[in-house]
Amino acid sequence: MKVKFCGAAREVTGSCHLLTLDSGLNILLDCGLYQGGDDDGRAGDDHPITGFNEKWLFDPAKIDCLILSHAHIDHTGRVPKLVKDGFSGKIYATNATRDLCALMLLDSAKIQENDAEYYNRKSRGAHDPEKHPLYTVENVQQVMQQFVSHNYEQWFHIHPDVRVLYRDAGHILGSASVTLEIKEGGKTTYFGFTGDIGRPNRPILADPMPMPELDYLICESTYGDREHENAPTEVGRFVDIIRHTCVEKKGKVIIPAFSVGRTQEIVYMLDKLEHSGQLPPIPVYVDSPLSVNATEVFVNHPECFDSELHRYMTEDENPFGFNKLFYIRSTEGSKQLNSNKQPCIIISSSGMMNAGRVRHHLLNNIEHKRNTILIVGYCAPNTPGGRLRDGATSLRLMGQNLQVLADIETMDSFSAHGDRVEMLHMIENQKKTLKKMWLTHGTLDRQEKWRDYLQENGFGAVGIPSLGDEEVLK
Ligand SMILES: [Zn+2]
Repeated sequence: MKVKFCGAAREVTGSCHLLTLDSGLNILLDCGLYQGGDDDGRAGDDHPITGFNEKWLFDPAKIDCLILSHAHIDHTGRVPKLVKDGFSGKIYATNATRDLCALMLLDSAKIQENDAEYYNRKSRGAHDPEKHPLYTVENVQQVMQQFVSHNYEQWFHIHPDVRVLYRDAGHILGSASVTLEIKEGGKTTYFGFTGDIGRPNRPILADPMPMPELDYLICESTYGDREHENAPTEVGRFVDIIRHTCVEKKGKVIIPAFSVGRTQEIVYMLDKLEHSGQLPPIPVYVDSPLSVNATEVFVNHPECFDSELHRYMTEDENPFGFNKLFYIRSTEGSKQLNSNKQPCIIISSSGMMNAGRVRHHLLNNIEHKRNTILIVGYCAPNTPGGRLRDGATSLRLMGQNLQVLADIETMDSFSAHGDRVEMLHMIENQKKTLKKMWLTHGTLDRQEKWRDYLQENGFGAVGIPSLGDEEVLK
């Protein structure tokens, strides 16, 4: 059999790998979009390989099946294009990943359509060709018909000779490592793909679990060069920021957050604070239609929860809802928040502040000393979030120049990616059996350090493939 690296090779986005068996069976692992600087699904045109999102390193019609590790757009965002370009096989995912994909791919299709429409209407020069969306809502409709979903820890056949196991990766709701058991030429080979690896002891999700013993492994490398400084949550500091802003300064706390995952973690943290009487009596608004829908998916997937959350639900049956928490879907409801002068907390997307409703909340609140902007996730340097994080005193947003007078606070402890110690912990059991592993989903400098660290810790052959590299497995 052979493996070909068709995305997330020496970079952190566009995850896609092709496994071809001797029989010719083509199994695709992930089918991600290259994302350039927006965490809510917007496609970037700034890929170093021009048109990565438009081109394939294989023929989509010849792919027999697709196995997804988790729902993040950089792992799933080109699935509708794959289907549009001729893929008609089954799409395997965990149950929660399937449900999140239903929301996130639709959202991504809307963004693709809007971007193309905006370009054709506003930016296109007289001689430029018309831009077509990468895919449309109709393509997503077809995609959803090809899904087959399974729970964790249940081996299932994708072919008479191939079985697959999903095991919890603790990264986002539904995230899984993928293990393939392949019977070929009288021998059995175990091939693994970590997907993205989460952190232990995070809110909501179970801890990442070690995979069965493998012969080959594709492993992520996002934080392969570092160790996180903080525990997965800093509840005390969070409460201090809320008290200082909302009670002492009578201001608003604006929390820009990714709609899926980060928003629910913050809501759950607030729910626990409210339940234990530590939250001041102020309203909390979740202002993003995708966040509202995603929270419903969370509620429906207790199989992904850790035991702490299960125990909490015996006291409080809705961990994502309390008296003063309001979910806002409509644009009108969102606009009403602008005229609301009362202290409150507003959670809104996108996390990097370069898209979505959160921009309006920044516009209305960033020029007042009484307010706080609380950054809880990674922001690319060229985004408004990245500039605020770097200490900008002025900001250009939606055509306006704004003075940054609000407090800017950062909490990094929410990271959904394990550091090198946490990743090593998940894969350490592979040392004895592994013939080779490949590092993907990381920048080259970090991957080299991650490889060195792995080899210091007893791992043998570790490769760092380039885009398009292919390797035959003996
Ligand atoms: Zn991810």
